[in-house]
Amino acid sequence: MKTLTRVAEMQTAAAGLRGAGKRLGFVPTMGALHEGHLALVRRAKQETDVTVVSLFVNPAQFGPSEDYLNYPRDFERDSELLRREGVDILFAPPVEEIYPAGFQTYATVEPVGAPLEGQFRPGHFRGVATVVLKLFNIVQPDRAYFGRKDGQQCTVVSRLVRDLNLPVEIVVCPIVREPDGLAMSSRNAYLNPDERQAARVLYQSLCRARELMQGGERRAAVIAEAMRRLIAQEPQARIDYVAVVDAETLQPVDQVRGRVLVPLAVWIGRARLLDNLLVEEKDGRFSFQF
Ligand code: AMP
Repeated sequence: MKTLTRVAEMQTAAAGLRGAGKRLGFVPTMGALHEGHLALVRRAKQETDVTVVSLFVNPAQFGPSEDYLNYPRDFERDSELLRREGVDILFAPPVEEIYPAGFQTYATVEPVGAPLEGQFRPGHFRGVATVVLKLFNIVQPDRAYFGRKDGQQCTVVSRLVRDLNLPVEIVVCPIVREPDGLAMSSRNAYLNPDERQAARVLYQSLCRARELMQGGERRAAVIAEAMRRLIAQEPQARIDYVAVVDAETLQPVDQVRGRVLVPLAVWIGRARLLDNLLVEEKDGRFSFQF
């Protein structure tokens, strides 16, 4: 595995590989890697010739009072995990390489970036879209792999690619979970053992939503309220949002019909955790992707 830290080196390497007819698979990450990240890497390795992983904690997507400085970082461990997976190139630039002095150009993806995370983390998706666009320009991948755990991020990135005609295919991969259902996340490292137990309530609330829909409930307000009630029973949990939205537009729906996303953001201690359930309703039958 080659580790590159300079934009120019990465661009040269990528141009050389593409010139040699290789198809590039790209997995952008912020490090503190877990099985969720590694599943994306494995998929990229299966589907493309050369796998590039970036490791960059992107300051532009963190708000001023958020956890940028405390975000878990362990370069040696991450690098070893990626080497063992057979990653070809690790791109790990310092901040000033991505945002040099004088930087002032940003990408905004709205309205899909406005609700949910966009409402609770103003500027978050502007930071995400900007860094993803930059990384795509630097790496020039054929395919880029994202996890559905960050469901709205997948929508924002797909929109960015379509709207700006970026020559990259976005591949959205399933959520990887712990055995008890908790979605894997670098931020799970913030949880103490007590909070780790409490965090199960996110997945449990999604299971409750499924149960209700399987029982014939279609009213979004009833489903969301039942989820909120269940989460409220956990004293360590504080809800940012629980929503039932159209999977394409991310606008709230009244009734569960077609493709619907049930996203939630919940604080457990100092960890802000995300999860979601994708529901497909066709002719009155539901299928669920956790
Ligand atoms: P992050 O390092 O948190 O920016 O995540 C990098 C990529 O890994 C994003 O596309 C995430 O959606 C994805 N990811 C994070 N956690 C999971 C998970 N539990 N399952 C699947 N993908 C994930």
